[in-house]
Amino acid sequence: AKNAGKNQVALFTPELREARLERTRLTTDLRRARERGELTLVYQPVVDLASGDIRKVEALLRWNPAGRRPVPPDVFIPVAEESGLIVPIGRWVLEQACADVRHWHERHGVSVTVNVSGRQLREEDFGDVVLDVLARYGLPARALVLEVTESMLLATTPAETARIVGTLTRLREHGVRIALDDFGTGYSSLSYLRTLPVDILKIDKSFTPVSGNADHDRMHAFTRAIVELSAVLGLTTIAEGVESPEQAALLQQMGCPQAQGYLFSPPVGAPQIDGLLHSIPWR
Ligand code: C2E
Ligand code: CA
Ligand code: CA
Ligand code: CA
Repeated sequence: AKNAGKNQVALFTPELREARLERTRLTTDLRRARERGELTLVYQPVVDLASGDIRKVEALLRWNPAGRRPVPPDVFIPVAEESGLIVPIGRWVLEQACADVRHWHERHGVSVTVNVSGRQLREEDFGDVVLDVLARYGLPARALVLEVTESMLLATTPAETARIVGTLTRLREHGVRIALDDFGTGYSSLSYLRTLPVDILKIDKSFTPVSGNADHDRMHAFTRAIVELSAVLGLTTIAEGVESPEQAALLQQMGCPQAQGYLFSPPVGAPQIDGLLHSIPWR
């Protein structure tokens, strides 16, 4: 390879060695995190913009290692993916989220959305695992939404992609809904939208309109176009990262039905969700 010499030198820089050491340390610690009870789930409400009612809650994983500062998901999720630990951890997330959503769904019709990485979807038994968890908790499939990203398909072969599409299609036939997360941030969002069986489009926070932005008319045109495309395709649209009432109002004007973000609530523990279940008047 043309850069082999350079890369080999780079492997021995102290910074890289330190970074690799830290990754190894994180992997070792993460392996024991579950049995030590260091993993928890927090939930962020997704609200209906017109009524303020909570329609869904997104399950977000937290890791608080004993005697250390919490490690953010953007740091430990990639480590979990590279090491394969995301498979058992992901099963735990699914299990815990289904256990927690049970009475929110029964009493308020609230569904839980669970982030799923490509590594999990490539497991042969992923579909069975999901259906089994639903059955064990006596949950209707409607109570579960799986969030996938287009980046999960980046490293897959056409055969793997076909199998993942097959798994998602099967789950959808049972009534599990599929959300395409971080829409607009990838390189080929539109082609993935055509390939993947989806019900919900989540607009990435980088497209959430910000007033006062010098370029904001142009940005709004993109956001509006995504909301309209989503509606034409019969999908539900969720805008992420909504922090101000102005943003929420603008999104509603554009026809976006649902949103999540600090304006409504940060991610909170399961007991706090109970107190929010009525509605979140944001105006
Ligand atoms: P994501 O799925 O795009 O989740 C949304 C992120 O935006 C969350 O970060 C959330 O806390 C944050 N957020 C929510 N409202 C606002 C807001 O108003 N403003 C801003 N600036 N940010 C907001 P978090 O919890 O740090 O998670 C980061 C990423 O880690 C997630 O991005 C997701 O890709 C991944 N992740 C989290 N939990 C899991 C999990 O259980 N499994 C997998 N595979 N990935 C997970
Ligand atoms: Ca997500
Ligand atoms: Ca997202
Ligand atoms: Ca993300």
